[in-house]
This record gives sequence, structure tokens and C-alpha cells, in this order.
Amino acid sequence: MLRKTYTEDWLVISYRTRAAASWRCSECGADKSLARNELHVHHRNQNPQDNNPNNLIVLCKGCHDTAHERLHQRYSDVIKASAWGK
Ligand SMILES: [Zn+2]
Ligand SMILES: [Zn+2]
Repeated sequence: MLRKTYTEDWLVISYRTRAAASWRCSECGADKSLARNELHVHHRNQNPQDNNPNNLIVLCKGCHDTAHERLHQRYSDVIKASAWGK
């Protein structure tokens, strides 16, 4: 079965990454220190196995949604350009 999963130490990495960012969104700067579950750690390359600090970005829920919409947009642009671009 092919399944993208978070690594076993993800909760620790996620916590450390958000703590290092002072529980603030790196996109809009929202302080989520009192609402920590609204602060997410996003994998830039969409690979939850890749916990390289360069691949991780701390985003609030809203900015995280936006980031994924952008990724979707880019993806559909690629599909349009390759498969149905003519
Ligand atoms: Zn934000
Ligand atoms: Zn994400």
C-alpha cells in the first residue's frame, strides 16, 4: 500500500518548529501562542517524510489553506500546459 505518512517524530519536530518561530505565522505574522492548534507546519515540497528545516514553513490555518490553493493552482496549470494545453 502506498501511503504518505508523517514520520514518527513529526509531533516533536512540528512542536519544535513552531516553538522556534515563537508560535507566529511566517506569512502573516499572526501570534498563535494561545491557539497553537491553529498553527500548522507546512511541507513546501508536499512530502511529509522530508523534515529538512528548509522544507518546513510555519503557517496559520488561513495561510496554510492559501498555500495549498496556490499549489493546486500551479498543479492544474502544469496539467493544462502538458495534457490539455493545445
Ligand atoms: Zn498566517
Ligand atoms: Zn501543507
